[in-house]
Formats: sequence, C-alpha cells, structure tokens
Amino acid sequence: MMLPEFAGFFENAAQQRLAFPYCRRCANFHWYPMPRCPQCRSRDIIWRSIEGRGELVSFSHVMHAFDKSRSDALPYVVALVKFADAPGVNLITNIDAPAMDTLQVGDSVVPVFRTDDGEQPMVEFRLA
Ligand SMILES: [Zn+2]
Repeated sequence: MMLPEFAGFFENAAQQRLAFPYCRRCANFHWYPMPRCPQCRSRDIIWRSIEGRGELVSFSHVMHAFDKSRSDALPYVVALVKFADAPGVNLITNIDAPAMDTLQVGDSVVPVFRTDDGEQPMVEFRLA
C-alpha cells in the first residue's frame, strides 16, 4: 500500500525520474515527505527531479528473511544513498549488485526503474 505523501515519488519513478521534496522558500531538499519544510516550516514544497547518480553511504547484506515473502530474494543489499544534487536526502534503497562483496562505501550508483503494468513502480540502484 502506498502512503499518499509518497505519491510524487512514485509518479516520477513511473516516468524514469528520481524526485524528492524541495522547498521553494529556502531551496532545500528533504526526505521523507513532510507537510511542512523541516528547515523553514514553509508549505511551498514541490517534487523536484534530480540527475539520479548517487553515492553509497552505507550498506548491509540481508541474509535472513524477516518477512517470508522475501525469502526468494535472498541475499539482497539494503543501502543508504546520498546525492550531490539533492543535499540533505539520504535514501534507504536496494542495490542490485552482481557480487555483493564488490560494493564499497563511496561507490557511485545509478537508479534502475521497474514499472510492471498495474504495479507500483519500483526504484533500486546498481553500480554506475
Ligand atoms: Zn524550507
């Protein structure tokens, strides 16, 4: 189920764009979506798309399925990614890595958009 405040993220992802909430009053990005800017309290917030290239801040290899529906996805990588053109955004996401032990903090990653018919678009990242 998609929370309504995330609709802008997925509408942009359906168009192969990565976008985050951006305050037009103080010119800052923030994440997660909030009704008011966490910097200046303004409600003048738009979804602003970015180039998409990010940097791996941290990551973890998930070897155990906490939710049985994800058992067939094991092992997978959960990561924290930041963006030079969206300072202040730290996105928790998955990394589609061919060999998990090739990842290093500081690696450059790019988004991969998956849009199956009728499904919520999915965004994950791969090494650039
Ligand atoms: Zn602001």
